[in-house]
Amino acid sequence: MIRQLLLIGGGHSHIEVIRRFGLSPEPGVAVTLLSPDRHTAYSGMLPGHVAGHYTHAECHIDLGTLCRDAGVRRIAGTAEGLDLARQLARCDDGQELRFDLLSIDAGSAPALDAVPGARDHGLPLRPVARFLEGWQALRAVARGGGLHIAVVGAGAAGVEIALAMQHRLALDAAPARFTLIGDGPAILAGHARGVQRRFERILHERGIVLHLDVAVERAEAGALWLCRGERCAADAVVWATGAAAPAWPRASGLQTDAAGFIAVDEHLQSLSHPGVFTAGDIASMTGASHPKSGVYAVRQGPPLAENLRRALRGEKLLRYRPQARALALISTGDRQAVASYGPFAFGGRWVWRWKDHIDRGFVARYRATAGSM
Ligand SMILES: Cc1cc2nc3c(=O)[nH]c(=O)nc-3n(C[C@H](O)[C@H](O)[C@H](O)COP(=O)(O)OP(=O)(O)OC[C@H]3O[C@@H](n4cnc5c(N)ncnc54)[C@H](O)[C@@H]3O)c2cc1C
Repeated sequence: MIRQLLLIGGGHSHIEVIRRFGLSPEPGVAVTLLSPDRHTAYSGMLPGHVAGHYTHAECHIDLGTLCRDAGVRRIAGTAEGLDLARQLARCDDGQELRFDLLSIDAGSAPALDAVPGARDHGLPLRPVARFLEGWQALRAVARGGGLHIAVVGAGAAGVEIALAMQHRLALDAAPARFTLIGDGPAILAGHARGVQRRFERILHERGIVLHLDVAVERAEAGALWLCRGERCAADAVVWATGAAAPAWPRASGLQTDAAGFIAVDEHLQSLSHPGVFTAGDIASMTGASHPKSGVYAVRQGPPLAENLRRALRGEKLLRYRPQARALALISTGDRQAVASYGPFAFGGRWVWRWKDHIDRGFVARYRATAGSM
C-alpha cells in the first residue's frame, strides 16, 4: 500500500524537501504538493525585483518544474482546513486530500487586524503574488507623477521595499514622495544600532520621511489616521506590518501558540499531532525565539526533510536547533546592501554583489533538471 506524504505550501523549507525526496525517493511513498501558485517567490530577491534588478523569473522558483523533476505530484489549490481524525486536508475547491503524513510550510499572513480599514485600503506585502500585481498597478498610476506613498512598518521588509520602490519609480521617470511609519522608537528593531544608523542616514539622504513611535490607528481612502490624532494623506499605502498566523491551523484543532502559529517541538513535529510536521513562518518552536524570516525557513528545510523520512520509516527523529543569530543582507534599493550580523554592520556595493551571488546560487539549486538535482 502506497503511503501519502502531503506537503501544504511551496515555501522555503518545502522546496528543499521536494529536492531531497527527488534526489532520493522514499520507496512506497507518494509525495504531493498543494500550492495555490505555480511560482514561489524567493524572499531575499523580492526587493531587488521591485527595484528592477531582477526579472520575475529570476526571483521565483517554478514549483511545476521542480515537482516534475522530483517525481512529486503538484495540485493547484489552497488548504482551508484539516480533518485530523480522518487525515484529510480540505481545499478551497472542495477537494479532500488524504495523507498518512502531513507537512505544512504555508508561510504567514499580513498582520492587518490591529488597524481598522487596513484590509480595504492599501497593499499588503503578502501574499507576494498579489503584492506584485498591486505594485505593477501602482507603477502605472505613478506615471502621472507626484504620488505620495506611505509604507507602514519600519522593519527590514518595510525599509527595503520603500527604498526599492523609490528607486524603481525614479527609473520610471515617475518620482514619488515616500513616508515610512514605524510604531517603535527605531527602525529595524532587533538589528544593531550601527545598522539602524546607516539606514537612518540613507533614508534621510533619499528624502524618505520617517515617523517613529507612531501607531497607525485607522486607514481610509487617501489617508491614514495616526495615534497623535494626525491625518497623514497618502495616495497609496503599503502594509509591511509583520507576520500574522493564518486562521485554519488552529481552527482545525492543531495546537498553536497564543498568536495562532503551529506549535512544534525540536523535531519540527506538532505538539498535538505527531503525524504533522511544520516549518517556516507558520511554525512556532517551543523555547526558540528566532524571528520569522526566510533565513530560518531555509535552514529548516534539511532537518524537515530528514525527519519526514525518519517518521515514514518509524526511526528516531533528528533534533533541530535554530542558530542563535543569522546574517541579514539588507538592500538599499540601488544595488548596494548592508550586512547585519549581531553587533556588526558593514555595507557597500560589494555587499550587494555578495548577496546577489548567494541569492542567485540559492534559486539556481531549484532549477536543476531531473538527474542533476
Ligand atoms: C518584501 C519582503 C522581503 C523579505 N526579505 C527577506 C530577506 O531578505 N531575508 C529573509 O530572511 N526574510 C525576508 N523576508 C521574510 C520572508 O519572506 C519569510 O520569512 C519567508 O518567506 C517565510 O518562508 P516560508 O517558507 O515560511 O513561507 P513562504 O515563503 O511565504 O511560502 C509559503 C507558500 O505557501 C503557500 N500557501 C500559503 N497558504 C497556503 C495554503 N493555505 N495552502 C497551500 N499553500 C499555501 C504560499 O502561496 C507560498 O508559496 C521578506 C519578506 C518580505 C515580505
